[in-house]
Amino acid sequence: MSTQPKPEAHAQAQTPAEPSFRQSVDLMFNRAVALMDLPPGLEQKIRVCNATYTVRFGVRLRGKIETFTGYRSVHSEHMEPVKGGIRFADTVNQDEVEALAALMTYKCALVEAPFGGSKGGLCIDPRQYDEHELELITRRFAYELIKRDLINPSQNVPAPDMGTGEREMAWIADQYARMNTTDINSRACVTGKPLNAGGIAGRVEATGRGVQYALREFFRHPEDMAAAGLAGSLDGKRVIVQGLGNVGYHAATFLQNEDGAKIIGIIERDGALYDETGLDVDAVHEWILRHGGVSDYPDARCHEDSAAVMEAECDILIPAALEGVITMQNAPRIQARLIIEAANGPITAGADEILRDRGVVIIPDMYANAGGVTVSYFEWVKNLSHIRFGRMQRRQEEARHQLVVDQLERLSDSLGKTWSLDPQFKDRYLRGADELELVRSGLDDTMRTAYQSMRQVWHGRADVTDLRTAAYLVAIDRVASSYRAKGL
Ligand code: GLU
Repeated sequence: MSTQPKPEAHAQAQTPAEPSFRQSVDLMFNRAVALMDLPPGLEQKIRVCNATYTVRFGVRLRGKIETFTGYRSVHSEHMEPVKGGIRFADTVNQDEVEALAALMTYKCALVEAPFGGSKGGLCIDPRQYDEHELELITRRFAYELIKRDLINPSQNVPAPDMGTGEREMAWIADQYARMNTTDINSRACVTGKPLNAGGIAGRVEATGRGVQYALREFFRHPEDMAAAGLAGSLDGKRVIVQGLGNVGYHAATFLQNEDGAKIIGIIERDGALYDETGLDVDAVHEWILRHGGVSDYPDARCHEDSAAVMEAECDILIPAALEGVITMQNAPRIQARLIIEAANGPITAGADEILRDRGVVIIPDMYANAGGVTVSYFEWVKNLSHIRFGRMQRRQEEARHQLVVDQLERLSDSLGKTWSLDPQFKDRYLRGADELELVRSGLDDTMRTAYQSMRQVWHGRADVTDLRTAAYLVAIDRVASSYRAKGL
């Protein structure tokens, strides 16, 4: 009888454990720094999280006191303020918040937003509370952070994340203003606020818009497309989106309506829709808002087995919800050739390796979802300058363009009207840019520039074979330069 172990038993003994989110970020960081020549000790200084504050506070709700646990983690203060969202979810824990804070450091460095990295989280299922209760809880959490300067325009500036949005940011801004009545810059203490409370046009769509701009930039480089076995343009590309929340919805609707991509799969908590001929993203989104899920959606087949749809054939897969959805288990079966990480940490370090070996191109989270913090940066600048973008220039720009149009029309008259300006061109040329257009232009420029810095490393170094490592190299190098400039 053979003494060899059974193949399955052998395989099991060999299977390395799935790394956690925090371990994944560290492993990916380590992979990149191994290729760098940092001064001794600096690598460790950059990797570790500087501090995490844990708070437990009570709020009187429905006749009794309920205790909540929240975190604000500061990963790196090489630039201040530090920046990063606040997440409301019942899965929030210290490890997760620290991993997300680290990603914020690298993300800000990569897109040249002048911030260090931070992240916050409150362990709560927001769906269990009504609006008034959520306001009490949010304000109390904010109070705890504000009094320790963990929310402050010059030190730590939160923003929305999973489970939070404009409404929560408005409560936080108001709470800060109440506690700092003479701070003229109080509105800059948090970003992602509604427009009427100091927000900026285009912040809600920003992360999804950034995903679209990232893909457009990717598709401008035939060499990069070829690495993913793709060619042509976004037009007609088959896309599967996992998670139709704020980020997934905006990315999908822009790709469908503005770039001609075909959204063939939408994966949600309660099931997954699949239609090879393309789903109507806006109709599905409407349906989810009204019914809370996709299971009864009438115009496409709903599969209970969401995993199967994630593994279906497509050109581009967009995980846009939670971390750790692509693991060592399902990575071998993923058929997409290009994955763009709209969520933070959707691919574990183990899955990342499997996918890389299989030649799948991954546009990494720290770049792909940086549109949110980029527009947050614009909002923070707007709040500090106390003026809407474009307010000074818009009409002056229009007047100068009018001069050119008038001159051309006079010329046309003098030539006996043998030609005229296309009315559509005239309209577009004459209109000065408003805040939304300026924000989109700034975001587009940021996404293009950051992509180019990554791809330069990707194609320029023989020891770098993927975009994630390239992104880490660019980001860590910038953080290291800041530390060096500070004399550390
Ligand atoms: N929560 C978002 C992120 O993970 C936005 C952070 C911000 O705008 O500061 O990037």
